[in-house]
Parts: sequence; C-alpha cells; structure tokens
Amino acid sequence: MKIQDIQAIKLLLASPKKIAIIPHRGPDGDAMGSTLALYHFLLKNNHQPTVIAPNDFPDFLAWLPGSETVRIFEKDTENCTTILQESELIFTLDFNALHRVGEMEHTLAKLTAPFIMIDHHQKPDDYAAYTYSDTSFGSTCEMIYNFILFLDKKEDLDKTIATCIYTGILTDSGSFRFPKTTGNTHRIVAELIDLGAENTEIPVLLFDNSSYSRLQLLGRALQNMKVFEEHKTSYTSLTQNELDSFNYVKGDTEGIVNYGLSIKGIIFTAIFIENKDEKIIKISFRSQDGFDVNQFARDHFNGGGHINAAGGKSEVSMEETLKKFEDLVTKLKI
Ligand code: 5GP
Ligand code: MN
Repeated sequence: MKIQDIQAIKLLLASPKKIAIIPHRGPDGDAMGSTLALYHFLLKNNHQPTVIAPNDFPDFLAWLPGSETVRIFEKDTENCTTILQESELIFTLDFNALHRVGEMEHTLAKLTAPFIMIDHHQKPDDYAAYTYSDTSFGSTCEMIYNFILFLDKKEDLDKTIATCIYTGILTDSGSFRFPKTTGNTHRIVAELIDLGAENTEIPVLLFDNSSYSRLQLLGRALQNMKVFEEHKTSYTSLTQNELDSFNYVKGDTEGIVNYGLSIKGIIFTAIFIENKDEKIIKISFRSQDGFDVNQFARDHFNGGGHINAAGGKSEVSMEETLKKFEDLVTKLKI
C-alpha cells in the first residue's frame, strides 16, 4: 500500500467515525473473516462499524465472532440504505468491482463517502479513494493483517481478530495448500495461533459440521462428474431438483468443486449449480498449474476471479450451459 494512502487513512481513522464494511455477494470464509476482523479492529478504535453483506452468509460461518451483528442488505434494504448513507467511510473487502455486490451496487454508486478497497483479485476497478489491491496474496484476510500493521496497531490484534483472520486464510488457501501460501502466510498464521486462534477447532467448525444430507449431495455431485482425460478437464453439475431432494441449505455446495481436481492428470474443473430463484446457473472454476480460469470465466461465462479459482454464471438452461462448456473444453489445448 502506498505510504501517502496509509497516512491519509491514519488521519481518517484518527477521530471516531461511522463506517460501513462490505463483503461481496455470496460471502465466503475470506469475505466474512476479513470484514469481521476489520469490524472488531475498528470497534476497538472507538469507531461505529457495521458489516453490511449484500445477501446472507452460509451457516458454517455463523459461529464467527460478530456474525450476529452483520446486516443483510437483501433482507433489510431500508435500514441498510440508511446506514450506508450515514457512513463516513466505506470499506469494500474481498472484491474489486461494484457489480459483485448485486442489487446493492445502485446504492453504493450514489454514496459520497470515500471508499477503501482491500482485495486480492485481478484487475481492480477504479471506484475507491484508497486501493490496497495485490494479487500476490492468497486471501484478503492476510492483507487485513498487514493493513493493521500498516496503521501501527499490531498491539490491537487479539484472539477475536486472530480468529476471523485465521478463518479467511484457511478457507481461501484450501487449508494452506494453494500456491499463494507462502512462508510469510505461515508466519502470520503462527502468530494468530499464539494470539489464541483455535487452529484445531476452527477447521472442525468450518468443514466437519456436515449434515447427512449434505454428504449425500456430495455423493450425487461425485456421481455426476464427467472427465475429459484428453483435455485434462472434469466437471460436475447439480440441478435445483437434486439440491431440493437433498434438503440443500446455503453453504452445502461449498468446496465440492475441488474434488474435480483430485483426479490424477486433471488440471481444470468446474461445477455448475442451478439456482431457479435467480434463474441462473452459478459456476465455479478451479485449476492448477498455469491454466487461467479467471480469463476463461471472463471470456465465456460473464465472470472472473483468480488464475486458479474463478466463478461465473449462465442464463440459459443447464443442458445448454453444459453443452457450451463441453464444446469449449473439446477445443482446449491444456
Ligand atoms: P467461488 O467459485 O468460490 O464462488 O469463487 C471463486 C473466486 O471467483 C472467488 O474469488 C470469487 O470472488 C470469484 N468469483 C466467483 N463468482 C464470480 C463472478 O460471477 N464474477 C467475478 N468477477 N468473480 C467471481
Ligand atoms: Mn478472497
């Protein structure tokens, strides 16, 4: 982050302020971890922060400290709009283009308070007065840790903040496995554990709290998987009917996409999930090595993300979407 920006932000935070903190739509562990870590940090510094999520977060994140204070724009639009209009500073975390907040974009676009973006995705838009954007980081949470240090507030780090930061680093790094996990990531994680982050308990809360029906849904997704060995690609799909028949709740499909990469020789995978309410097929892409799924998602499925993890959507039927994907895959030279 630029020295001038750090100085300017220090000045902004020198007096108590009403501050809105916003994660992207469909908030994940990194989005919720980073917004809540910043929330606790700002609270400690006598500000009045509010986390406003565009839509609800999954149950497996509901144990995060402070999650009970999070406002959901989609459910409580009027109050959230008032809070946003009264905010003197707006943080947007874990995304870098305003359309990533869905309907809330129209409200955000009209605000006059300065924005601070902290994010690790590619190609940031230019909406923030202060931008801390760096694609070399595996998570926004790792950047929040640095941000607190930039502000010379290391002594404010405590068990609560450490727990939130640990969660985002853990989830966005695929449990410390993805390539952007560095020695420095581990040094930060070591410090978070020393501060009290429960490193054996947190993964249980996040990953081992499954319902029986969720495990059965995973089984269905694995059965639906198709493999294109020649093109080093696999994919799977879940229709709304399949989700319904396994009593789907938000968060149940989290992480399923990664199984497609666990097949020997596969370096590109995708999961297509039907959402009848939104009339879309939501897609997650994952890759390893140099195959750029961010570019693939941008080029073909109205999406984006990172080189090895991206998302997108399709507004045609599941059948047509899968046909389009298969046609693209058979032309791929990976
Ligand atoms: P996931 O597959 O876990 O939903 O998302 C993987 C990554 O891609 C995340 O970093 C997420 O922010 C990004 N992403 C997911 N969906 C979209 C999308 O529709 N548009 C863009 N630009 N990024 C997305
Ligand atoms: Mn992230």
